[in-house]
Amino acid sequence: MSHLKYHNLIAGQWLPAASGKTSLNVNPADHADIVGEFPSSGAEDVNRAVEAAKAAFRIWRLVPAPKRAEILLRTGILLQERKEEFARQMTREMGKVLAETRGDVQEAIDEAFYVAGEGRRLFGVTTPSELQNKFAMSVRMPVGVVGLITPWNFPMAIPSWKLFPALVAGNTCVIKPATDTPLSTYNLVQTLADAGIPEGVINIVSGGGSDAGQALVEHPDVRAISFTGSSAVGSHVGQRAAATFKQVSLEMGGKNAMIVMQDTNLDLALDGALWGAFGTTGQRCTATSRILLQRGIAGAFTERFVARAKRLKIGNGLDESVEVGPQVNASQIETSRKYVEIAKNEGAELLCGGHTLTDGACANGTFFEPTVFAGVKPAMRIAREEVFGPVVALLEFDAFEQAVEIANSIDYGLSTSIYTKNVNRAFAAMRDLEAGITYINAPTIGAEVHLPFGGVKQTGNGHREGLGAIDFFTTWKAVYVDYSDKLQRAQIDNAE
Ligand code: NAP
Ligand code: MG
Repeated sequence: MSHLKYHNLIAGQWLPAASGKTSLNVNPADHADIVGEFPSSGAEDVNRAVEAAKAAFRIWRLVPAPKRAEILLRTGILLQERKEEFARQMTREMGKVLAETRGDVQEAIDEAFYVAGEGRRLFGVTTPSELQNKFAMSVRMPVGVVGLITPWNFPMAIPSWKLFPALVAGNTCVIKPATDTPLSTYNLVQTLADAGIPEGVINIVSGGGSDAGQALVEHPDVRAISFTGSSAVGSHVGQRAAATFKQVSLEMGGKNAMIVMQDTNLDLALDGALWGAFGTTGQRCTATSRILLQRGIAGAFTERFVARAKRLKIGNGLDESVEVGPQVNASQIETSRKYVEIAKNEGAELLCGGHTLTDGACANGTFFEPTVFAGVKPAMRIAREEVFGPVVALLEFDAFEQAVEIANSIDYGLSTSIYTKNVNRAFAAMRDLEAGITYINAPTIGAEVHLPFGGVKQTGNGHREGLGAIDFFTTWKAVYVDYSDKLQRAQIDNAE
């Protein structure tokens, strides 16, 4: 079957990698389906892209922010028109079901409209001066050329969380998409270009993390790196970026706990648990990967949860009746398989799943069964380490305080949730769960773009996307205007 060949966008031109090398983007639900061929870029391509972004920054930083925002508004409208086409392409390249890829594109649309409004805000601060006839203010300045590195699980939404705030604030961008999902990021960049983004303001360089990604992190003219991915790679990126004193935002993994109190509506908790654990085939940084059950409902919940997990329809996400798509690639399958072995050896009880699927609708892809472990203890690796697949651990507890302690006992701190009808417990959970996000009576997934997104501990290094993104992509400048017509020395002339 013939397939399309895609290029990098550098200085407004679509170009192959300098080396001429390419890699194939394969549909994880059907390996015979080649989604496209993409450049395998390296340092030379990154250098050109950064050069283009540097040149464009001289012009883009002077474009009034409300004008920059209008391009984002047009991008959002174009994405609405292209939503169905882009969602179908995303399901083919990444595997998640159509309802979810439509949601991924929708998130980019929401982000476009949200950030477009920022063009008329980007508020600074005025404050009195300690001296007479002197005016003081703080204004937001763009950072310069920013490098964006993104994962494959939200291949349009996550790039939009980074690109749109960076652009509205006056930065110019070089983005390196995940090797598994360059097409969705390419579609986003193409749409920005169609909406009128000037040449060089946004550049996309497809290629491997240790080639193009590393070159971007190490480039001396890149002033900030915004990275989303695993904690292992994030730690490496942070350390390399420190060598050239870059600002770095790291959004990384999770091992997200849902607490189910016995006073809750069990049907509601079951719906949430199923969606949180197996939506996106468990490949979300916020996936519900630990379910903490209060002793009184543990038996009933477990039985019904496993029965429903077994009934989930698995297959190609383009089939609208399918509920769970493939994992993105063979190495993710290998990780799921490995953790099934680890959990069994630790003494956890496998209640369902645990195998790759190779028959029928799953014959030509990388599929793994929805998998549930019970009898999991907080110290086990299956309770502490991110699997990033359809594998969920059930733990039991007696009292609320114990559940909070178990939930907090890990190295990650992204998302948490509690199902309860007790308002006192709900408020205690909001305060005590160590995480960037807490849901009450909803699973650990479902973030909206205009709230802060990110986590604590090994999930992040203190920055936030969404509400916090403008803070990351701007730098404060203090401005003093002395209109006294004489030298006024702060801390000296006005001292008693
Ligand atoms: P990953 O392996 O860490 O890769 C993330 C990105 O970094 C990819 O573009 C990758 O390129 C690139 N990369 C790899 N090595 C690099 C290097 N040495 N220097 C610079 N860049 C490098 O993560 P993933 O497997 O794509 O995504 C899954 C992980 O992301 C999970 O841990 C998940 O929890 C996390 N995640 C976090 C959030 C959040 O907001 N907290 C959201 C979504 C996902 P290649 O694709 O070429 O390897
Ligand atoms: Mg692919």
